[in-house]
Amino acid sequence: MTSDYSDIPMVDVHCHPWRTRDLLELPQDSFEDRLAMLGMCQITSSSTEDAGGEIARMSDDTPIVLAGRRHLANFLGVEDDRVAVADGRHDRLITGANDYFAELFNQVGLSELFCDDGYPLPAVDTVALGQDIGHPVHRVGRIEPWIKELLVECDSYLELEERFLERVTREANAGAVAFKTVIAYRTGLDVADYTSSEAERAYQGWRADDFRESREHSKPVRDLLLNRLARLCATLDRPLHLHCGGGDPDVRLTYARPTGLFPFISQHPDVPLVLVHGGWPWMEEAAYLSSIFPHVYIDLSLMVPWASLGIDQKLEIVLGTAPGGKVMYGSDEAGEPEVLWLAAKYGRASVARVVDRAIEQDWLTRQQGRRIAEGVLGRNALRLHGLTSS
Ligand SMILES: [Zn+2]
Repeated sequence: MTSDYSDIPMVDVHCHPWRTRDLLELPQDSFEDRLAMLGMCQITSSSTEDAGGEIARMSDDTPIVLAGRRHLANFLGVEDDRVAVADGRHDRLITGANDYFAELFNQVGLSELFCDDGYPLPAVDTVALGQDIGHPVHRVGRIEPWIKELLVECDSYLELEERFLERVTREANAGAVAFKTVIAYRTGLDVADYTSSEAERAYQGWRADDFRESREHSKPVRDLLLNRLARLCATLDRPLHLHCGGGDPDVRLTYARPTGLFPFISQHPDVPLVLVHGGWPWMEEAAYLSSIFPHVYIDLSLMVPWASLGIDQKLEIVLGTAPGGKVMYGSDEAGEPEVLWLAAKYGRASVARVVDRAIEQDWLTRQQGRRIAEGVLGRNALRLHGLTSS
């Protein structure tokens, strides 16, 4: 007997909001290329060029694109064909995008989203988005755009820190349920313990260097701000999400491994830390950290859906290493909202297969397996962010 988890409401703990008019401005004939990692990276990063048309050529050999095309063709009632699917979904965007998204969500039982408001910019109004699609959208406030705004307005590190922490408090009062940093894209996850005077000196050097990102100048400033933020998060009762692991080609991959966070994690036992993307492709490291530190949580975004054939394997390692109560489903959809739907479909099926194997191998009873699945698919994210009592 296989487990049926189709009735469990799913919560996506890490994804990005969108504007329908922006979706319509993208070239419609390359819609399905953007379902692939290669295609998505082209719009989220500054460094990918595809002059030779390699992305479109590779789509026909990429599982997520082929699966997306087939399932969407079925959903839209059109032929399983690149052009027919792109045209079919374009028609739905034009004739009633919000109803279309709501239908997609309802089909896969996707009930709530946590959206990182740092991409795209300018920030999307997540409350309005939630009203449009008829599902709650919780806002995770990304700190780097706020730091960027403040940098040019401040004369000293101390002024920057004060105004930054004020902004964070304001955003918490305005409804941000968590805060997020992409320091792995700036100076790296190896956050060190700088003093205020070291940060002040670095700030002046950074300013003199036209705020060019560097480990010498910006790192002490960003690191100290992050340490201060973690303390404030504990006071404000907000989890801190950290991009952890790979991403698009703008990431500083050398400094993006979960292991780099070890000193930071040890220093902040009072604040729940979410290792976004579970450290993908180094998920073993993130799962291990989650298994030894009570306050470390991981999400599955990016790995689901883009590891495609490898999702079960990674999920087995994660659920076998970290307590299931600290693992949260997420997609990292950051371009085309259909990814939310596709990832939910595959994520749910993968959780069911992995839990079933655990039952077969006598690690879990069917009841225990179901409880863990309910947590991973949705309840853990809501509980961690204080959005449910269970
Ligand atoms: Zn993301």
